[in-house]
Amino acid sequence: MAKKVINILGVTGSIGQSTVDVILAHPDRFEVGVRSAHLNKDKLLDFKERLDARRAICTQDEDLEAALCDVPADITVSAITGFAGLRPLLKAIETSKAVAVANKEPLVAAGALVLETCRRHGTTLLPIDSEHNAVFQVFDEARRHSIESIILTASGGPFLNHTLEQMAVATPEQAVAHPNWSMGQKISVDSATMMNKALEIIEAHVLFDLPPEKIDVLVHPQSVVHGMVEYVDGSVLAQMGASDMRTPIANILDWPDRLATPGKKLDLKTLGDLTFNAVDAARFPAIGLAYACIQKGAYACIAMNAANEVAVDAFLKKEIGFLDIVRCVRHSLEDCEAQVFDSLNAIEEYDGLIRENTANFIANGLTEETVQAV
Ligand code: NDP
Ligand code: MG
Repeated sequence: MAKKVINILGVTGSIGQSTVDVILAHPDRFEVGVRSAHLNKDKLLDFKERLDARRAICTQDEDLEAALCDVPADITVSAITGFAGLRPLLKAIETSKAVAVANKEPLVAAGALVLETCRRHGTTLLPIDSEHNAVFQVFDEARRHSIESIILTASGGPFLNHTLEQMAVATPEQAVAHPNWSMGQKISVDSATMMNKALEIIEAHVLFDLPPEKIDVLVHPQSVVHGMVEYVDGSVLAQMGASDMRTPIANILDWPDRLATPGKKLDLKTLGDLTFNAVDAARFPAIGLAYACIQKGAYACIAMNAANEVAVDAFLKKEIGFLDIVRCVRHSLEDCEAQVFDSLNAIEEYDGLIRENTANFIANGLTEETVQAV
């Protein structure tokens, strides 16, 4: 059997490393085409001996999109963090048979464009994000009319049982110390604010083409059940697994077949209690903002994502407090004006404007009026 060529965007990150692990466990099945990092040249080259990859690209000073054109892939794993992954993802859709997406921010900010580009190029879009991968595994597309709702689970992050007073003084070190998952800094902070789940609600809306009222979130601190689909007959189908991203990655890399994971597996005998609870909207207001953004439209989704990226960065640099992150997002949503987008440039321009406004809001002590979107 011919080896599948896998391109890995963001190979030096947490998802990138998990992807490498799965690939190295099956050297007879996969070869790596392009692998990219942003700044971390040492770590990028560190894979040289182990991964027989054709191209290594440092996006800070090399052209990733040109490399993707040179090395078409069977699957491109999109594991860059943030909106910065949008252009490479669109190029990967043009040049790969399938894209496996962990990088949720481009789906949130440019979902329609990503889907349209997939349709135009006949490219399959496969979800790696654990909740979406779980739903994907139990989602009966042929009977989607029988689907009542989908349920994304949330661990609740490190501050699940914190009071608002405790959250107000939370440090970046506390916020990135996730109880169940080991992940990059940005998504770890997003998990602590539950902005990660907010982004995932919009991601699910894009991936599964469901209205917001059919997308639910439940807090499930054990992170064993990752996602569920509820059918009209009362059946609820769930996917379970260890909190290890190598499971959804293994699920996707050989889809629709299943590949052995080199990662952790569940030991059902030792699991103990599994609990499911509603989200406390007072302590985690990000969830409500996601539903509001879907109702408002694409411009609000871009604003939510852009403001969050700027605010998380400021929080990690200790320029603002933990609760200020969602305050920045809320401010950007109150401030932004409705717009429709007919191109990637228009999306990027709007994203840039929101970033500038949010940076000004932070620079002015989270009080000042900012420039209105035009
Ligand atoms: P990391 O921060 O660990 O890794 C990010 C990767 O992207 C690194 O390879 C980094 O390169 C590269 N990168 C960073 N900035 C840029 C840029 N401006 N242009 C190009 N490349 C860049 O992130 P994660 O692996 O945790 O997350 C990646 C994506 O997957 C995120 O969107 C996240 O939300 C999503 N995701 C992550 C999960 C996880 O378990 N980690 C679970 C589900 C989804 P360098 O090392 O050189 O900086
Ligand atoms: Mg997730």
